Amino acid sequence: MPERTNRIGRHLPTSGGLARTLGTARELGCETIQIFVSNPQAWADPRGRQDADTFVEGSRELDISPVVAHAKYLINLASTSEEQRDLSVLALARELAAAGALGVDLVVVHAGSHGGDGEEKGMKRLVEGLERARERAAGLDGAAGAVAEPVVENSVGAGTQLCSTVEDLGEVARRGGVRVCVDTAHAFVAGYDLSAEDGGRMVAKHLLDALGEAVALVHLNDAKNELGSHRDGHRKVGEGCIPLDSWPEFFGGLPGVPVVMETPYGTPEADFEEVLLVKKLAGGLRKAQVGR
Ligand SMILES: [Zn+2]
Ligand SMILES: [Zn+2]
Repeated sequence: MPERTNRIGRHLPTSGGLARTLGTARELGCETIQIFVSNPQAWADPRGRQDADTFVEGSRELDISPVVAHAKYLINLASTSEEQRDLSVLALARELAAAGALGVDLVVVHAGSHGGDGEEKGMKRLVEGLERARERAAGLDGAAGAVAEPVVENSVGAGTQLCSTVEDLGEVARRGGVRVCVDTAHAFVAGYDLSAEDGGRMVAKHLLDALGEAVALVHLNDAKNELGSHRDGHRKVGEGCIPLDSWPEFFGGLPGVPVVMETPYGTPEADFEEVLLVKKLAGGLRKAQVGR
């Protein structure tokens, strides 16, 4: 079997403490993980964690890389409201610093919504907001130079959401000097047909052509809703609208890109099986197709 180049893992809870998070990562066979460093649904700041050093050391020992955090869902750097933009910049800055203190490499942030002011204005605000948040994070107490890298995630394209297309993600990457995270469920409901014959290969090629090295991460989720529906919703891999057949060629087209699942939790056994399944899908290319 050809060698697998994509590191595979999933989002994990931190509610039982970070040592427990790492225990689960080990049990599930995660090579990369994603966590929240603050409540994603509220504006409360990330708490300093007493188990930070243990987590940094433990994730290194388990060879978990990259360690990813997902920023608050409330953050909207492109908001029509200056107050919301300022709040979002500060919240993202604090998450970048708090994540850095935990040895987190990447912080995934949503592109946000222009709220009716138009894509061009929204994009400009998003790019500015990313720049301000990075500057601010570097100056925060306790950041000590260890600031995580923000990566912008594609949206489902509902309402006035920015970056539902690969081209728009590419524009933010270029103008903002950032890398990006591609969520497969979001891409599917935004219209990228991963269920078509050859869909996995075509979408991966499109991503690589438009974004190249800027693809820092894949959120591997099966889609609950149909192609082009612009409705979010994740399913376990193989249980939604995207056939398993699509993934080997998708992974083959994105060599080396780490993969984090944000699929619904099942039993520990089901979660373990899902990680194992994805590892097989990512290593299951036929020999002739490797090294294309
Ligand atoms: Zn997200
Ligand atoms: Zn995602």
